[in-house]
Amino acid sequence: MLKKGKQEIIKVGSILYERGLISGFDGNISQVFKNDKIIITASGVHKGFLRHKDLIVLDKKGKIIEGVGKPSSETKMHLEIYKNCPSARAVIHVHGPYAVAASLENEKEIDVSDLVEGKMLFNGKIKMVPSFKPGSEELAKKAGEIATKQNTFILKAHGAVSWGEDLFEAVSLLEALENNLKILALRKLFRK
Ligand SMILES: [Zn+2]
Repeated sequence: MLKKGKQEIIKVGSILYERGLISGFDGNISQVFKNDKIIITASGVHKGFLRHKDLIVLDKKGKIIEGVGKPSSETKMHLEIYKNCPSARAVIHVHGPYAVAASLENEKEIDVSDLVEGKMLFNGKIKMVPSFKPGSEELAKKAGEIATKQNTFILKAHGAVSWGEDLFEAVSLLEALENNLKILALRKLFRK
């Protein structure tokens, strides 16, 4: 069971890397295991080429149960989301380039209401956490608060976060978010 949970995270890391949503050492992935434990990527590891030893098992308060090295620098944010959103079983954070670029040109939220998918998945608006220091308590608190209102959102000048009932849902939401923002960027090329 634990092995399967780790394998799923390794696969997701590779997919996100192939899709250009994660590059090098950025981003972090976690999922709930046996209701009271969390498997999370270690800090400073390449998410495209994860190995079993790059994954750390924590309890819900963040205490290390298994693994060597430091858990992700955004562990506090993951824990806060799990605490505030009982149906969250997986959390992913990436530095998708379209999400980051769009966040620099918008305040508070990003309007995706012109897109059918944007309306369906995000209610036409993607919420945004203001710019806080990565890994900080403030970032974790604010992200945890916004996560109760929307399961996919942006960290200003930093990246995007999603949570789902499983990793598949969390990946799909992040892909959709990045795709929506890519279309809005491309739209400017076609504007007459
Ligand atoms: Zn980050």
